[in-house]
Amino acid sequence: MIRIKTYEEIEQMKPAALLVGKTLAEVSKHIEPGVSTETLDSIAEEFIRAHDAEPTFKGYEGFPASLCISINEQVVHGIPGKRTIKEGDVISIDCGCTLNDWVGDSAYTFAVKGIKEEDLKLLRVTKESLYKGIETCLIGRRLGDIGFAIQSYCESFGYGIVRELCGHGLGHVMHEDPSILNYGRKGTGAKLREGMTIAIEPMVTLGNKEVVFHNDGWTCTTMDNSTAAHFEHDVAITKNGPLILSSFEEIENAIASNNNLEII
Ligand code: MG
Ligand code: MG
Repeated sequence: MIRIKTYEEIEQMKPAALLVGKTLAEVSKHIEPGVSTETLDSIAEEFIRAHDAEPTFKGYEGFPASLCISINEQVVHGIPGKRTIKEGDVISIDCGCTLNDWVGDSAYTFAVKGIKEEDLKLLRVTKESLYKGIETCLIGRRLGDIGFAIQSYCESFGYGIVRELCGHGLGHVMHEDPSILNYGRKGTGAKLREGMTIAIEPMVTLGNKEVVFHNDGWTCTTMDNSTAAHFEHDVAITKNGPLILSSFEEIENAIASNNNLEII
């Protein structure tokens, strides 16, 4: 069942969505070669709790951490641990915050200095595809239009669209109906309605689209070990068009002042 929100509820969702961006900005100040992913996770958890919020991911279906940190060929759901960041790494970080009983869920992929040019381009195109998807979020359009916009843009660069994972509705819980696929056909699927709130999150690969799920129960990697990227925004469908509830602004300000990171 798709849970429609009032404009008042959409306003209430903003602080949770914005806190995710602030958390990712805080984390990105600490991304440098040698730092462990569990250190980044601790920084996020402390920051979220200091803002009177809960890390939504921690304990979600048994997930052990506050962030999903997925490096290079890892697509999503990487578990933070002892692994350290290296020059040239591609670091996808997904974060969820529950604040005042609303959930925010957003992801950004970071480029560590020394990144290969082809990987940097993948990140740029994946981020652009997210906005192509968002542009279609107009009352009366259909779910398939979002997927089509993302898929056709990414495939025009020869990239793969992961099929096994997708975006979702969100609200009081992280995963509501409907599923927001990153592929699809124009004019198909449920109609977009005023008051729908959804997380759009293209997961895109430099090579083949096939993925593998690992026996830690979480980590998803590309089957051909090619690099993957993941960007996610929370979006409300309103009479004035798509309203992006999350924000990359503070993340990108933090990236600009971190010499270890490349601007996407
Ligand atoms: Mg997410
Ligand atoms: Mg999500």
